[in-house]
Amino acid sequence: MTSLSDARDTRARESLTDRYDPSAIEPRWQARWEELGMHKTDLDDASRPKFYLLTMYDYPSGDLHIGHWFTKTPTDAISRFKRMSGYNVFFPVGFDAFGLPAENAAVRSGVHPREWTLRNIDHMRRQLRSMGATWDWSSEVVTCEPEYYRWNQWFFLKFLERGLAYREMAPVDWCPKDQVVLAREQVLGANRVCWRCGTQVIKRDLEQWFFRTTLYADELLTYPELDFPDPIRVMQTNWIARSEGAEIAFPVAEDAHQPGGDEIRVFTTRPDTLFGATFMVLAPEHPLVEKLTHPDRRAEVDAYLLEARRKSEIDRLSTEREKTGVALGSHAINPINGERVPIWIADYVLFGYGTGAIMAVPAHDERDFEFARRFGLPIRQVVAPPVKDEAGGELADAYVSHTQDEVLVNSGEFSGMAAVEGGRRITEALEKQGKGKSAVTYRLRDWLISRQRAWGTPIPVVYCENTPSDGIVPIPEAELPVLLPEDYEARPQGGNPLEFDERFLRTTCPKCGGPARRETDTMDTFVDSAWYWWRYLSPDKEDGPIDQDREQKWCPVDQYVGGAEHAVLHLLYGRWFAKALNDMGLVHEREPWTRLFNQGQILGADGERMSKSRGNVQDPDELVSRYGADSVRLFLMFMGPWDQGGPWSPTGIDGVHRFLRRVWTVVLDPAAREGTDAVGGADATELRRHAHRTLAKVTEDHADFRWNTMISALMELTNHMFRLRGTDAVDTPEWDEAARLLLLMVAPLAPHIAEELWSRRLAARGEDWTSVHVQRWPDFSADLVAQDQIELPIQVNGKLRDVVTVPAGLSEIEVEQIALARDKIKAQIEGHEIVRVIHVPGRLMNVVVRPDK
Ligand SMILES: [Zn+2]
Ligand SMILES: [Zn+2]
Repeated sequence: MTSLSDARDTRARESLTDRYDPSAIEPRWQARWEELGMHKTDLDDASRPKFYLLTMYDYPSGDLHIGHWFTKTPTDAISRFKRMSGYNVFFPVGFDAFGLPAENAAVRSGVHPREWTLRNIDHMRRQLRSMGATWDWSSEVVTCEPEYYRWNQWFFLKFLERGLAYREMAPVDWCPKDQVVLAREQVLGANRVCWRCGTQVIKRDLEQWFFRTTLYADELLTYPELDFPDPIRVMQTNWIARSEGAEIAFPVAEDAHQPGGDEIRVFTTRPDTLFGATFMVLAPEHPLVEKLTHPDRRAEVDAYLLEARRKSEIDRLSTEREKTGVALGSHAINPINGERVPIWIADYVLFGYGTGAIMAVPAHDERDFEFARRFGLPIRQVVAPPVKDEAGGELADAYVSHTQDEVLVNSGEFSGMAAVEGGRRITEALEKQGKGKSAVTYRLRDWLISRQRAWGTPIPVVYCENTPSDGIVPIPEAELPVLLPEDYEARPQGGNPLEFDERFLRTTCPKCGGPARRETDTMDTFVDSAWYWWRYLSPDKEDGPIDQDREQKWCPVDQYVGGAEHAVLHLLYGRWFAKALNDMGLVHEREPWTRLFNQGQILGADGERMSKSRGNVQDPDELVSRYGADSVRLFLMFMGPWDQGGPWSPTGIDGVHRFLRRVWTVVLDPAAREGTDAVGGADATELRRHAHRTLAKVTEDHADFRWNTMISALMELTNHMFRLRGTDAVDTPEWDEAARLLLLMVAPLAPHIAEELWSRRLAARGEDWTSVHVQRWPDFSADLVAQDQIELPIQVNGKLRDVVTVPAGLSEIEVEQIALARDKIKAQIEGHEIVRVIHVPGRLMNVVVRPDK
């Protein structure tokens, strides 16, 4: 002990001139950790359990903002805690490097998108390093490099072979500002705006490439052994939107102008109401519209089509607006009763949903009802509550909403059946005639992956111009990658630069060797991000996209952290990729991530979203230079529950900075203090208990990432130690243990200061340096934690009635609540007015009640 205390005297003297200065210690430790390769993961080490930790990789916009810190630094605390807990942690980093901003920058400044992107990545690498995080940079992937995107092309070819990729003419959502088509998932909100720029999208008919996401629709609705936040599950489920019903074919009726022979297919969730289908409505874009238009109706129909094109989907679906439509002058046959029903077009039916046609049942569907009323079409009630039917009550030709126990009426042989039964029987009857079948539909569409952009992965096919039968020819696998051109001519006037690049366009057909034209569409960048975590395991692998040995060992990802805004984009596509690659035998799991965490959002100090125009942006670089990375990390974790975020607070960050200074002081300078009573024994024991109680709490909080409460606990422990400075307690082994535990607990959260203090501690003891971050996470003593209970005698009117055991840290009110809820006490005080409660904390409680009258 003597030597330790001598050392402490020396240290205390030094510390007079040695204040906590993060700018001096943080870069030094970052360099040291890197030099030692401390965060490089041995992916083939099987001696420890693995833990694959992932944050959503970033788009290299050029600058890290505080939101990046809020995702990444708590995740780094997870990484450090897991390492200390004995796991072999893999925590990679990379860049989602293709995308539109680079092309827009090229238009503005004439710089090649690649140059712009790589420059930003360089800058962001430096900023990321300032966080002091444990990334394994040796596994970095940058998706705009051919080493990466060639594998997008490889997957594309494999998908094409298996029918998972296909090309089709389709009405698609087009952003007029970005001059690019969008996937359904990229059109946001009821007013249907572009996810990137907020411009309202329009519809265009274009030949496009799709991935068949719908193939896995059912499986995407199940989440076996998947710890996903509920909101994400709900959003995905609603997005996929499975509904059961029947697909029914209505033959087109033969007429003077109409040869017939076509049929209109509809999907309905209510086949039981088929007898009530008194007309049909097609979306204006339906391919049969042209053919089914009676010559007399032509002018009116054409005018309506023109009008419908101009409307957004939100306008079309609005319930406020009066329904519009035009009769085509043709009829269809209701397959269940042979009735002729008129065919209309109306813009409230959308082409991209279902089959683009509906059977209208005006008596039981509000929109159909409005439409029928407006145009004088027949309305026939076909379901009714059973009571009414028995009473033989008159049926309305009005709108009648569905009821739970309704039965079929007006439905021929099916009348009287319960709705579900009736629906099933009608479907069976149709099936016998080949006019229908039970069916399931989804709102989910196939993933539109074509982008008319030059800064993305070229789609590896050519169009043969030599042999017509060759058509679309895939590039042979051995010839991958199809490289992007090295120079780039920006097109401020719009359009895809690749379409104007003759050297890129002109090629030969792999089939016939004749001239061919390359596909100029590139892939949605969400293709890049749908599989990048597998590439992290072997970024340099040349003979395939994924190292399957490592995939077996390391996947699925154990913990994924990122924003909830990707709920039906990246988080759906990644799950789809896992299923597709699993079916191809490339990965062994069907879900890519085991546990997902969505962090909240950091707002400006004014409680508003941070934005330059509001002037409430917090620049992390500036905060780091002012407070140090440790304080910024700690404050982000302290400000509230991680999944909620909250407003920035300038006083809050001052507070955590003061806390770290206090940690510095209690560890380095415990003796210096305006002298006080020499205590010792009892205080040291209490400190030891407090340290173990804190350790128990912090360990528990790590399981659910409750950073704020664990930091509060650490602050309390530090304050406790601060109060004991200068007393005899600081010379005890208990103090020494508390200081050691404090540093180990601070290490995952504020890694630099913990490392600095740890190294000084070792030096003071003459021990060799080993990093605090490779220490084993300490075990708390259950005894010390358990002993921390108080036995409290409870009296009623001065008479002992019960003894209750309560945890030491509870507030007086909490203890009172517990005491008054005890059965023995309740029995004594029931029916009496409590006059007052005398509570001597830790000693006694006396409940004074008014005695019986
Ligand atoms: Zn846009
Ligand atoms: Zn050819």
